[in-house]
Amino acid sequence: MKNISEYKYEDLLNRAFEKLAGRRGSAEVFEMPKVSVLVIGGKTIIQNFRDVAQILNREEELLKRYFMKELNVPGSVNEAGQLELRGKFNAVAINQLLERFVQKYVKCSTCGSIHTKLTKKGKVFVLKCEACGAETTFQAF
Ligand SMILES: [Zn+2]
Repeated sequence: MKNISEYKYEDLLNRAFEKLAGRRGSAEVFEMPKVSVLVIGGKTIIQNFRDVAQILNREEELLKRYFMKELNVPGSVNEAGQLELRGKFNAVAINQLLERFVQKYVKCSTCGSIHTKLTKKGKVFVLKCEACGAETTFQAF
């Protein structure tokens, strides 16, 4: 149980965050990052892979493994922070996968906030929302 003063503190904190972000409630205005994709030879290169991982606040390793799993191809991150995947994939397909990643591994399913933390505990992922405190657990990959 929380007492009244703790609620007030949370209110203040939320207000401070909104001011910092320069907007009201960040969940609705979250702009889904779009990947820029380059197909060279038999490879697909996600040029802004590092930026996308940073925007989503997820580890590059996790995002890389997600794409590899979903597309069922090997991949690696090069020195420039680009993800190179074997095979030819278009930007539409990659962006759809990225959207699914956000829905499942970034966005809180309770309040829609993207201010979440994803941790791996054994064979499961725990998605913890920093906005509403909700926790979702699902199978890790
Ligand atoms: Zn939430």
